[in-house]
This record gives sequence, C-alpha cells and structure tokens, in this order.
Amino acid sequence: MNPLIAAHPDLDRVFAVLNGEGEEVRIVGGAVRDVLLGLGTRFDIDLATTALPQEVVRRGEAAGLKVVPTGIEHGTVTLVSGGIPYEVTTLREDVETDGRHARVVFGRDWSQDAARRDFTMNALYMDRDGAVLDLFGGEADARAGRVRFIGDPLARIREDYLRILRLFRFHASYGRGPIDAAALAASIEGHDGLAQLSRERVRAELMKLLVAPRGAETLAEMERAGLLLPVLGSAAGMPDVAAVERLAAIERHLRLDADSVRRLGALLASAPEDVERLREGLRLSNAEAKRLEAIADPRLALDPSTTDLERCAALYHMGAEPYRDRVLVDFARSGAASDDIDWNDLARLPELWTAPKFPLNGGAFLARGIPPGPEVGVTLRRAEALWIERGFPEDPLALVSITRDAMGKG
Ligand code: ATP
Ligand code: MG
Repeated sequence: MNPLIAAHPDLDRVFAVLNGEGEEVRIVGGAVRDVLLGLGTRFDIDLATTALPQEVVRRGEAAGLKVVPTGIEHGTVTLVSGGIPYEVTTLREDVETDGRHARVVFGRDWSQDAARRDFTMNALYMDRDGAVLDLFGGEADARAGRVRFIGDPLARIREDYLRILRLFRFHASYGRGPIDAAALAASIEGHDGLAQLSRERVRAELMKLLVAPRGAETLAEMERAGLLLPVLGSAAGMPDVAAVERLAAIERHLRLDADSVRRLGALLASAPEDVERLREGLRLSNAEAKRLEAIADPRLALDPSTTDLERCAALYHMGAEPYRDRVLVDFARSGAASDDIDWNDLARLPELWTAPKFPLNGGAFLARGIPPGPEVGVTLRRAEALWIERGFPEDPLALVSITRDAMGKG
C-alpha cells in the first residue's frame, strides 16, 4: 500500500489517469523522503511522469480533473484531485547548465531524471503500490542523516550554485552529525558562484533554513566555513549567529514555533538601515519588512527593567505579534539564559493580558463643545495618552476625568 495514497485517497485518481497506455507516474522528492523517514504525509506532493505535458493535460481533462498549465514549458502541469493540487512534471534531462539555470529536454528515463536532482535523499520515487525506486542509496542516506550529492559535489555545484545553500538547508532539516566533508569542501571551493544567483532563489532557501530544526547551528557552521557572507550577498551586514542560536533556545523554552522573519531579524536587523538592505537583498514583502522595522527600531527596545505599565503600553501600541518579535529578539540579544524569569515574564505578557480597545471617540469631545476639525483628533490622542498613563481604565468615572483633563490641557 502507498502511504501517501492512504492519506490522500484522491491521489489515486491521478495515478489511475497517468499510469498505463505506455506511460508511468511516480511520486518524487520531498513527499517520498519525508514519508520514508516517518515524518508523516504532506499536502505538496510532486509527481514525475514519462508522459509529455500535452498528454498529461489531455488525460487530466478527459478524466474531468481540473488542469492548470503551471509551468508547461518546463514540463509541469498541475492536476487538482479532491481539491488538492498535484504538480506533475515530465521526466527531464539536463542538456546545459550555467550555474543558475538549466536547459532541459524531456526524457523517458527515470535514472536520468534522478541523476539531475541534487541529493540522494531527494531522488526517491514511489509508485502507486508504494514501491520505492532508489537509484543512489537515498533512503539509507536519509535514514542516516547524510545529505549527499549525487555525483561529484563540485561538478554539481558548478551546474547550479544554489545547491550550496540547499546543502546547508537540507542538512539543517535532515542532517545528523557533521555535514558531509566532500560536500562542504566543494561548497567552499565553489562559493564565488553564489554571487550570480537570483535573490528570490536565495531567499526561498534561506527562509527555510532559518526555521529548520538545526537551522541555528547550521548558520554557525556556515559562518565557520566562511560561507555565510557569500550566501547572504548584498543582504549581509554583520550577522549575529549567536543571537539566532539563543532565539532558537528561547522559542523552545517558551514552546513557540520558529518563525523565519523573526529569526532573520535576530540574525541581521539591528538598526533601521539593515531593514532596507534586507528588503532589497532578499526581495522581502512589505509585511515582512514592517516586522523587521519593529525589530530594528531602537526606540522600541524592551527589557526587564520596564515597569508593568510601560510594557503594557508597548504591547498596546505595537500589537501582540510585533511585541513578541521584539521581546524575543531583545531577549536573545541580551545573552540572558532562556529560562531567565524576568525576560520570560516580559515575553509572556501577551498570553496574560490583552490590550483593551480605547473606549473614547471624537463624539465625547464634540458633545463637550470642541468644534469639528483637527482639534478633535489632537484632543483624542491626548486622551489616549492619559488613558494609557492611568492604566487603561474602563470605568465611566475615570473616562470622564480623562475627557476633561484632555480638554483642559489644550
Ligand atoms: P521541501 O519542499 O520539503 O523543502 P523538496 O525535496 O520538495 O523539499 P524542493 O525544493 O521543493 O525540495 O524541490 C523538489 C525536488 O526537486 C527536490 O527534492 C529535488 O529532487 C529537486 N530539486 C529542486 N531544486 C533543485 C536543484 N537546485 N538542483 C537539483 N535538484 C533540485
Ligand atoms: Mg517541495
């Protein structure tokens, strides 16, 4: 029985559609690797097939599946079965590589398709019955935690320099023990090629590496090998790997999930100008850059010397997520132990206290004779400051005196 079909019965339809009449289909890549490692089944399941893209489209449509020509020129067609998209890619062979892109042709040979993949653990295929096609010993490597290149590491790196970063990313996720020595030596030897990679590809790998189970220690390993700055390229400033290692320990202590933007912030965002460089160098979204701004702004720094009211005010102004980002990164940078009680209290505030909504609005001031116009907003903001200063009261009497005092101070 195929465990991935057991978990996603609708996947069997894709097999039924593409197997037969001289064609074959198999699951490939991460989904196979992870299920063999007992890491469970996942939703992004990729398939490889001998059928040409047009044939995949034809069969999918004939069977009434939703067909999306995702990247048809690269051989990828998405078939949606039971509401879940499956990426089906025709077997390929590299005919030319330049360190960034590969020119590929479609093939019918499973071993050629396997040989162009990067690591042995990423070249595993599973057929409809659950039988594994493993041409390079990838299953044993996966079980042993060995991230090993298929073929000569330096040659494979020169075909595509992103594989240096992928080596560390997969090591951070699946590696046990030290990183493969031949792969590490080849990465150091080939590191000059990193500069030619697109920022988007680097970004995608880096964000996964940052949150991988051994991400923090892997960054330290990259730094020791002299590879961290070349990988970061124009995004690099002065990386603080120790802060990421402490952040990882703090997250574990607080039972929080790792978060890639927060870890990136701990690594590289210690001043406002860092954020611009990161935004550009890693093609960050506006939302990501905004989170980093809160991490990098010196005016928002937090530490256990703050009073209860100050920390509540910070949480009120920042919102729960940015507050948490900020405290955790400041905690990590402080060097305090992850079980430090005072830092833990500061970090746990959003679990214990939710900022109330400011209960006044302009109406209260209009009713007291302030003319409509900008003065209303100014007075309202003054009232809000008083309300925070007085401990976020909700009772009507306190609100009346805040209203009065805000007007009086005008
Ligand atoms: P995950 O999605 O869990 O991060 P994955 O194994 O699915 O892991 P992807 O980056 O999604 O990894 O790539 C899918 C597969 O495509 C890989 O398993 C590998 O076989 C192949 N692959 C991806 N990028 C490269 C590359 N740069 N060089 C060679 N093969 C690659
Ligand atoms: Mg994947």
